[in-house]
Amino acid sequence: MPFEGLASRLQNVFGKLRSKGKLSEDDVNDALREVRLALLEADVNFKVVKDFIAKIRDRAVGQEVMKSFTPGMVVVDIVNKELTALMGGAQSKLARSNRPPTVIMMAGLQGAGKTTSAGKLAKVLKKENHRPLLVAADIYRPAAIKQLQVLGEQLQVPVFALGDKVNPVDIAKQGLQHAKDNGNDYVIIDTAGRLQIDEALMEELKNIREEVKPDETLLVIDSMAGQEAVNVAQSFHQQLELTGVILTKLDSDTRGGAALSVRAVTGLPIKYAATGEKLDALEPFHPDRMASRILGMGDMLSLIEKAQEGIDAEKAKEMERKMRKAEFTFEDFLEQMEQVKKMGPLDQILEMLPGAGKMKGMQNVKVDEKQIDRVQAIVRSMTKQEKLKPEIINASRRQRIAKGSGTTVADVNRLLKQFEEMKKMMKQLSSMMGPKGMKNLKS
Ligand code: GDP
Repeated sequence: MPFEGLASRLQNVFGKLRSKGKLSEDDVNDALREVRLALLEADVNFKVVKDFIAKIRDRAVGQEVMKSFTPGMVVVDIVNKELTALMGGAQSKLARSNRPPTVIMMAGLQGAGKTTSAGKLAKVLKKENHRPLLVAADIYRPAAIKQLQVLGEQLQVPVFALGDKVNPVDIAKQGLQHAKDNGNDYVIIDTAGRLQIDEALMEELKNIREEVKPDETLLVIDSMAGQEAVNVAQSFHQQLELTGVILTKLDSDTRGGAALSVRAVTGLPIKYAATGEKLDALEPFHPDRMASRILGMGDMLSLIEKAQEGIDAEKAKEMERKMRKAEFTFEDFLEQMEQVKKMGPLDQILEMLPGAGKMKGMQNVKVDEKQIDRVQAIVRSMTKQEKLKPEIINASRRQRIAKGSGTTVADVNRLLKQFEEMKKMMKQLSSMMGPKGMKNLKS
């Protein structure tokens, strides 16, 4: 997952807060100091961090929070909301012209993922029953035109190209005309990038912009570049009046700085996030879901949407794999229990899951709410490896964990068993969410 370092640090800070029945101003200040450091280390812009912390402090040290029944939870909720706001609040959708074709101009530095993202976007649009046209206006990078043509072939999306001897402004202009003549309702123009911003490039992009008057000018930025990506976005925006950002390589080990700062620094919405080299790895960017993910509150909505999309077997499988394996760790388990505790008795919640009552194994999943603190202590005594791969927890590890958490080996055994049951349940849930299962869920 993106932002792993940031996420685990924040979750750690808030884990501590949540376990307290009462909060003093010092508690909040200590926590905020750690949050501040975590954000700076994630390469978030200094000023953005400062404003962010100030906003949270304002809201969190108020009387209502301190006096509330679960002050730690309230603080986390405040952070969640502010984090969402920081990344843009509501989802920003792609423009759609009421006089088609809708023109989308892609811009960005070389290697940011512009050409790949153009292809991915075409795929998204095609899936929504649009008829996109890709236009190859990058005549400088060797093979850029060919790359787009290959993508087009794979996607069965037409590509308009005039080779590398024609002026990009003319290519864009003729591409647009071609779309009009052929009934394409979206035109995606892939433009040239450079290793660095230079004037000639900006001139060319401005000229294309002037010529085709795009509905969207999207800057593709590489999230791996952190704050540098944000600086690039700002310079492009000053010259090109961008309308949004596509953030790429969120699948890599990015620290998160770009995603968290770009909106605050430039005012531009992040429209899509790219999470892999494959052509279907482009998702609409949902600030609220991303915030929940960073804070370890899970992202069931996206998961379910993916499952619903799972018309092809491959995706459904991938989704199943995610739920079954890597994604659901002990940290998640803990978080889930806390969430559940907040909502009410677990068995009632489980009843709300369609079909869940009938599931085998469900009866055994019981969380004694008073035990949560103990469970928390046990999980905290595990190493990172153990949290990710509980199966490596052998007898001697069990002893160590019991000792470290002030519990008994029997307690540890019980928890491990519960976790296994939970995973089994998720497995069943995930098979219900396959293409056929989804129908059952809805009915
Ligand atoms: P351009 O120069 O901006 O057009 O960049 P390309 O589209 O050619 O992409 C540069 C490299 O980044 C290629 O190897 C892509 O496969 C890779 N890439 C693009 N988007 C992503 C992404 O979201 N995740 C990962 N892991 N790689 C990506």
